[in-house]
Amino acid sequence: MSQRSGRHFLQIPGPTNVPDRILRAMDRPTIDHRGPEFAKLGREVLDGIKTIFKTAQPVVIYPASGTGAWEAAIVNTLSPGDRVLMFETGHFATLWRNLAERFGIQCEFVPGDWRRGVDADAVEARLAEDRGHAIKAVMVVHNETSTGVASRIAPIRRAIDRAGHPALLLVDTISSLASIDYRHDEWGVDVTVSGSQKGLMLPPGLSFNAVSEKALAASRANRMPRSYWDWAEMLKPNQSGFFPYTPATNLLYGLREAIAMLHEEGLDAVFARHDRHAEATRRAVRGWGLEVLALDPAEYSSSLTAVLMPDGHDADRFRRVVLERFDMSLGSGLGKVAGRVFRIGHLGDFNDLTLAGTLSGVEMGLAAAGVPHSRGGVEAAMRYLQDETGHSTGRADAAVA
Ligand code: PLP
Repeated sequence: MSQRSGRHFLQIPGPTNVPDRILRAMDRPTIDHRGPEFAKLGREVLDGIKTIFKTAQPVVIYPASGTGAWEAAIVNTLSPGDRVLMFETGHFATLWRNLAERFGIQCEFVPGDWRRGVDADAVEARLAEDRGHAIKAVMVVHNETSTGVASRIAPIRRAIDRAGHPALLLVDTISSLASIDYRHDEWGVDVTVSGSQKGLMLPPGLSFNAVSEKALAASRANRMPRSYWDWAEMLKPNQSGFFPYTPATNLLYGLREAIAMLHEEGLDAVFARHDRHAEATRRAVRGWGLEVLALDPAEYSSSLTAVLMPDGHDADRFRRVVLERFDMSLGSGLGKVAGRVFRIGHLGDFNDLTLAGTLSGVEMGLAAAGVPHSRGGVEAAMRYLQDETGHSTGRADAAVA
């Protein structure tokens, strides 16, 4: 029997559920993007978003999906023939490499097994060898959305510094920003790429480049042709709150609200909430007798969990059963792990009962699809949630406190 009432459970690792408060904030007339009312909105979001990236430097906002911000990071800082160091952490690292290659960038792509993050020692060793400084950038995906593995950025920064190498550090935070602790300035990142549709709880359609002084200098010297993505073209009108072309005004209303909501809860509480729900999810997975794809506990993602299917069982068939029976969307396995894993998104606008509902849907789905498993995963997660009340009490409590 399929479900026809109640709300759909959108438990893919982005786009995530958009809270009513953000939907209401966007439900307004579109205004003149060259008028004074817009300038106020523009300044608010351009200043406000810096607090989420933890930067005092400019953040460029594009009316584009994350892929656009990937491209922007490349065309502003790199030129055809430049060499970069990348790591095959999963599907999204592979896609970013493919995009870079189309611009004539020579990518050294260190192979990986899709179960681990970037090895900072390997970064240091490779850069130390590069005495002529042929490598212009190290490009890493902070949170690999295809595998549920989060690479640690601070050790990568330290590795670059230990090697005494001038390479830029470019980091994709599309599925980590506003879910997993991230510090653009403190970690010395040169370009941070992100998108609206995950931790920021917005619909798809906005993406970001947070840009260091060093990256800006590189962009000024860079001969790669570019127009739409050109930081210089953006930053001039941004100073007075405007954009060089028509901005996604209504998404910016939503962004203003999202920034306010994240600060009302407190970024540390937001991160702790994600950590806690991720741990509860992993306990559920183990309770079912299944395996988490990520191998190193220090690299577990707090925004999603990728789960390996038992041999001989197709993850996509299981996901189809869950969608038909329980009206819940789970993330598919991508690229090399297609059919072998499913992904549970536990990021964005999310609380204990959203998680309990999500995990119940998975447990019932495993039974309905005839996937061998033990019962008790949901029970294990609920026990953890009860015992570990965590720092997060949810937005309502935080607002009262
Ligand atoms: N990078 C990561 C880590 C992602 O998760 C995604 C999308 O899920 C992308 C890049 C591409 O972003 P978009 O699909 O918004 O273009």
